[in-house]
Amino acid sequence: MTDTTPALMWFRDDLRLSDNPALTAAAQGGRPVIALYVLDEDSAGLRDMGGAARWWLAGSLRALGAALARSKVQLVLRQGPAARVVPEVARAAGCEVVAFNRRAGRAEARVDDEVEALLEKQGCAVERHLGQLLHQPGSVRTQAGGMPRTFSAFQRSALRDRPAPLPQRAPSLTGLKTRLESEDLDSWQLEPSKPDWAGGLRESWKPGEAAAHEVMSDFIDGGLSGYAEGRDRPDQIHVSRLSPYLRFGEISPRQALAAVLHAGEAGTAPMADARKFESELYWREFSYHLLHAVPDLARRNLQANFDAFPWRECSGDLKAWRRGLTGYPIVDAGMRQLWQTGWMHNRVRMIVASFLCKHLLLHWTEGESWFWDTLVDADPANNPASWQWVAGSGADAAPYFRIFNPVLQGEKFDPKGDYVRTYVPELAHLPRNLIHKPWEAGGLELAQAGVRLGITYPRPIVDHAAARDRALRAFEHTRKDT
Ligand code: FAD
Repeated sequence: MTDTTPALMWFRDDLRLSDNPALTAAAQGGRPVIALYVLDEDSAGLRDMGGAARWWLAGSLRALGAALARSKVQLVLRQGPAARVVPEVARAAGCEVVAFNRRAGRAEARVDDEVEALLEKQGCAVERHLGQLLHQPGSVRTQAGGMPRTFSAFQRSALRDRPAPLPQRAPSLTGLKTRLESEDLDSWQLEPSKPDWAGGLRESWKPGEAAAHEVMSDFIDGGLSGYAEGRDRPDQIHVSRLSPYLRFGEISPRQALAAVLHAGEAGTAPMADARKFESELYWREFSYHLLHAVPDLARRNLQANFDAFPWRECSGDLKAWRRGLTGYPIVDAGMRQLWQTGWMHNRVRMIVASFLCKHLLLHWTEGESWFWDTLVDADPANNPASWQWVAGSGADAAPYFRIFNPVLQGEKFDPKGDYVRTYVPELAHLPRNLIHKPWEAGGLELAQAGVRLGITYPRPIVDHAAARDRALRAFEHTRKDT
């Protein structure tokens, strides 16, 4: 028998119809579904999205609204504190059930608890599901019962309890006959207008669930074979570029994992590559479980000995780093890829982050905030956890004495200089043996390439050897303080 009492699906970081356990639960028994998205910039403790992520959110909501409309389900858009808006919409629609997928952050969980208490007061049942992670945060434990603090221990424990591998199909949906009051997406001004800096983002990305699956299948047909090695090469296309889709839940980690493992089992790609991809998804999982355990991950050093670290303050260096004008071509290429496209290759993220924290000795939170504002995949867990990992203050962090040499990193991972040529076009005509160290070029070579150091491209803002010594001294000081 069909249930005619409507249920409310509260969408958050899970902007998809398929493999969405909360949506499937809401649609159970064929009952009509109201879909709600709340732009909540009022509840205490929630981190406001950065500019590039807001741009992505607009596209993603547009795509979700269109997909829901095909099933005659309205996506209701409302702005305000969730504790006011969700009970209000549930009441207006006469819902007896509200379903949502859990979020890992502590502030988010507090908001959810408050919403649940208010809904229950008005006689509405609440269903919480696991939709954005493979394992329930807090459920992966060492044998002694704590949260594993190294990645390998975390993955080992998590894989002892493999999640159900099969993603769910999109449920068949029925909408309400009446329309509810909804706000106009454009009125939220998620996309920039004056100035409109999002041209590069529009050229590079198409948000939404359908696009996520296209990106996934292109990756399986193309980059996945050779992923384990090729994922370190920014000049090649061996990574999936699924991060913003995973961040906004346009594809679930379970769907991505199942598709890749299936490709491995079917022989479309080597199983070793599929397993490496699985392991990267577990890095994401590790970050989220850390965020659950340490809610202020974006502000507090996980290792307290870093609290006394002698970070420098230098607005000029920070500005040069942000703009991709450090004089180190691989660093500048990464920072300009970020500015132009809202994304940066993982290897280059590690290089630019190491450069900021170790060569410039600027606080990792400066880098984290800039990434937060400029990445389309700016992620509340992956971003701070990765910054802390690079800085050395995080869980299972890179050892403090590992200081990337930006020239050697460039020569190893962008050997022909193609990546640098794409994003630092003023160096495009330098030969490959000089592209990562233009200051070593002679006058004739520079003139032939049309480069005037200090004019068309900066000289290095720090000397690598001197910066390395300075960083080692600073880190040694911290080590003694522990
Ligand atoms: P693929 O290699 O195809 O990997 C597939 C998925 O696995 C990714 O989409 C991502 O969800 C996950 N993943 C891959 N590598 C990592 C990793 N090292 N840590 C955690 N998860 C990983 N990732 C974000 O999603 N958002 C961020 O804000 C973010 N900030 C970062 C900041 C720094 C300083 C560093 C070093 C890394 C950061 N990462 C972040 C992790 C990683 O760089 C990106 O997830 C990856 O580059 C996304 O590209 P992809 O989807 O092609 O990755």
